Amino acid sequence: MTTPADTAAAGSRHFVPEDLPTHLQHYIGGRTVDSIGGKTFEVLDPVSNRTYATAAAGQAEDVDAAVAAAREAFLHGPWPRMKPRERARVLNRIADAVEAQESRLAELETFDTGLPITQAKGQALRAAENFRFFADLIVAQFDDAMKVPGSQINYVNRKPIGVAGLITPWNTPFMLESWKLAPALATGNTVVLKPAEFTPLSASLWARIFEDAGLPAGVFNLVNGLGEEAGDALVKHPGVPLISFTGETTTGQTIFRNAAENLKGLSMELGGKSPCIVFADADLDAAIDSALFGVFSLNGERCTAGSRILVERPVYDAFCEAYAARARAIVVGDPHDPRTEVGALVHPVHFDKVASYVELGKTEGRLLAGGGRPDHLPEGNYIAPTVFADVSPDARIFQEEIFGPVVTITPFDTDAEALELANNTRYGLAAYVWTRDLARAHTFSQNVEAGMVWLNSHNVRDLRTPFGGVKSSGLGHEGGYRSIDFYTDQQAVHITLGTVHTPKFGSIAAS
Ligand code: NAD
Repeated sequence: MTTPADTAAAGSRHFVPEDLPTHLQHYIGGRTVDSIGGKTFEVLDPVSNRTYATAAAGQAEDVDAAVAAAREAFLHGPWPRMKPRERARVLNRIADAVEAQESRLAELETFDTGLPITQAKGQALRAAENFRFFADLIVAQFDDAMKVPGSQINYVNRKPIGVAGLITPWNTPFMLESWKLAPALATGNTVVLKPAEFTPLSASLWARIFEDAGLPAGVFNLVNGLGEEAGDALVKHPGVPLISFTGETTTGQTIFRNAAENLKGLSMELGGKSPCIVFADADLDAAIDSALFGVFSLNGERCTAGSRILVERPVYDAFCEAYAARARAIVVGDPHDPRTEVGALVHPVHFDKVASYVELGKTEGRLLAGGGRPDHLPEGNYIAPTVFADVSPDARIFQEEIFGPVVTITPFDTDAEALELANNTRYGLAAYVWTRDLARAHTFSQNVEAGMVWLNSHNVRDLRTPFGGVKSSGLGHEGGYRSIDFYTDQQAVHITLGTVHTPKFGSIAAS
């Protein structure tokens, strides 16, 4: 059990990893390089908000160079031509290397993002798991073949598409990069990765890991830079036939428009404002545990955060009281301290956005916990876990994605009202339902507008299941075979066996 004394204790020191790079470059065609024009941007650490590194700021010409290297590796290199088993071996070596460096990776990720160290370790291991999963999948993958007895064989050639453009956000950056890199590489594509400008540190580690694992030069390329510069150039590049993007819905809309020119394949994992519905018959203790973890883990910077809690009236007051008490006891502090449960938000710009929602919330709801910067943390991007009750569906804090440790609680009286409140948003990423009534749970799942539903469980999933949202939360799904589908062309080949009986067009006049 944590106490406010623990809370006060965490956050008293500032850890800086050993051998911290102070300049981050691109990685193009197997070489680390600066931007052709020499442009850079500054990278801050979220605990001190001091600049700890500069990073090369990629422009259109740098993206051109990366795409050219990736196209050369795709058209003439061994990677797309290797047997799946050979590619799988490289992927498994990458997973081994990530596991072997788990502590260092987590340390750097925590330093760059402000994520609590214990949670960053989990994300590093998950990145390794992503590579192992797609290594296995690509070997196990059967070729689709359909035989029509005595007449035809039809089969599907799955082919890598070319240069995949991968654009990733700053929340759990290393893991989310692996979620795109692993399937794109497993299927034989070559890639250009554009990581988020707030958190470029862990992306720069991939180059060495891939080199050591034997990935041929040019297969993986990294261009650092700002979204509106490097990201924009990658999306518009005619040599990049598909873009996998994770980020904000508004950015996704811009990318959708820009990709239309060359009609690219698009996968979009976008924002969320997911409901967590607690019925009166639920196991309240388990629901409270899950609803706390669901919004306050990863600093609340989680796309699937259950940031709108809806509670059935008979248990509403008891839920609010118990939930707020636990939220107040969460340990906020230095992300490198293993006791810390909520660390520093990623960047001062994001801190200001979340802090302004907290101020707005004070006019839109009843503040039960938190409400701004904790007293014991005068510097850094810290916000105490903040709980607003009695929030109406018209409130902006109910409708808009805050992406920080802030949650709203709203009462409901009937199943129909719960469903209406749950669906009353532009987003549709996830939903969490707590009830002991199985029929109600499944009926609710069928009607809730969400790409993923967790019934009486928290945010755990088997990697074979699809991941993605509906409405403004995304386009398409990633995960399992859905990723294989996205990163491959499926060419259908049809052969007729024996005599060909083609209708004889043009033969009537002759007879
Ligand atoms: P963001 O949209 O600001 O940036 C994401 C990436 O897009 C960055 O690399 C950025 O540089 C790039 N970018 C920005 N403008 C661009 C442009 N015009 N063209 C090309 N690229 C551009 O998102 P963020 O703030 O980094 O991440 C937080 C958001 O990501 C939240 O909305 C969160 O819900 C969402 N997210 C969704 C999922 C999911 O799976 N659905 C997972 C994680 C995060």
